[in-house]
Amino acid sequence: MDLFDKCYAFTRAEEVKAAGLYPYFHPIEENEGPVVRVNGREMIMAGSNNYLGLTAHPEVKAAAIEAIHKYGTGCSGSRYLTGTLDLHNELEERLKKFLNVEAVLLFSTGYQTALGVVSTLASKGDYVICDKENHACIIQAAVLAKGGFAEFVRYKHNDMADLERVLSKIPENVGKFVVSDGVFSVTGEIVNLPEMLTIAKKYGARVMVDDAHSVGVIGEGGRGTASHYGLDGKVDLIMGTFSKTFASLGGYVGGNERAINYLKHTSPAIIFSASPTPASCAATLKALDILEAHPELVDRLILNADKMRHGFSEQGFNIYSSKTAIVPVIVGDVEKALYFWRHLFDAGIFVNTFIPPGVPQNMSMMRTSYMATHEDVHLNKILEVFGEVGKKLGLI
Ligand code: PMP
Repeated sequence: MDLFDKCYAFTRAEEVKAAGLYPYFHPIEENEGPVVRVNGREMIMAGSNNYLGLTAHPEVKAAAIEAIHKYGTGCSGSRYLTGTLDLHNELEERLKKFLNVEAVLLFSTGYQTALGVVSTLASKGDYVICDKENHACIIQAAVLAKGGFAEFVRYKHNDMADLERVLSKIPENVGKFVVSDGVFSVTGEIVNLPEMLTIAKKYGARVMVDDAHSVGVIGEGGRGTASHYGLDGKVDLIMGTFSKTFASLGGYVGGNERAINYLKHTSPAIIFSASPTPASCAATLKALDILEAHPELVDRLILNADKMRHGFSEQGFNIYSSKTAIVPVIVGDVEKALYFWRHLFDAGIFVNTFIPPGVPQNMSMMRTSYMATHEDVHLNKILEVFGEVGKKLGLI
């Protein structure tokens, strides 16, 4: 048996490509936010997490360029050793104030943040307790913790009675870590944080919320899930990413100062991985300046997503229980999803196609998401094309 047998047996991607239905890895040649260039032609982007459209903002670009001039292109070391810049410390301080938390620690991506936090805090005998629909990085983080002999259990999606059932079965004298997406990345639903915190407290569990899709989207001035519920400062840890609202690349965790200090000195993801690049940090700092100065961008984003929710529903599409900036359009089986994608792509609309195992069977979807910088002309075109394709495929 050769280790690579499975690689040679894996032909699904080639088959789908041969049928002209392959929706992945299409290179973007230019990117202005709502409009991108693919294969030499303009397309409307309806699947980016660039929620405030800041990747194309001239001041964000200029800040990244200036940082390159000052610090060079990379840090070539971990935060722990020679890779800490004054920019990293400045960004941690700024995020600490913005998120109203005791301390913040940067990681090099959001994915790595989840791995680095969960697998370091949950050690032998502790329990990681996850929502079944958490993002893959949290699930992988729990699997990694399990490798270190922590226990990994899951509860039904956003079902707080089930969370309580799970917690009630765990021995009292072990560490318990409840981890959930704040805004769920596939459906855009918001976690039931108030109940989660009450239940966690009852059973002595610590809580981390992943605000990757929440910051810049919900809460006062885009401060995320805790702020959305008026629970600022009440969540033990909040993690997030710079790859969405912050128009850059990197991750962070904020919250309890002792936990952050512990992670800073013990998490392998910090100690053995190079720190975020100067350009990434400077772009994030500028995006944060813009978010703080222009909270109306958050309102604009939600108005745009609301328009799409309303438009798709009126056309008869199933948009599940969409909230926030993510609007999933459920199309059903895989084949239908791939055809749906092809029709949209040919008509100049670029969306994400989610199929099993990323989503449950018959829940294949066009996972659309919106930006503050989408204009009505873009949104109307997306609705028009979805309507045409939906009719053609007998979905509406
Ligand atoms: N958490 C969630 C909920 C996400 O959706 C993502 C990325 N899609 C991440 C974490 C990972 O963030 P990053 O892109 O910075 O690795």
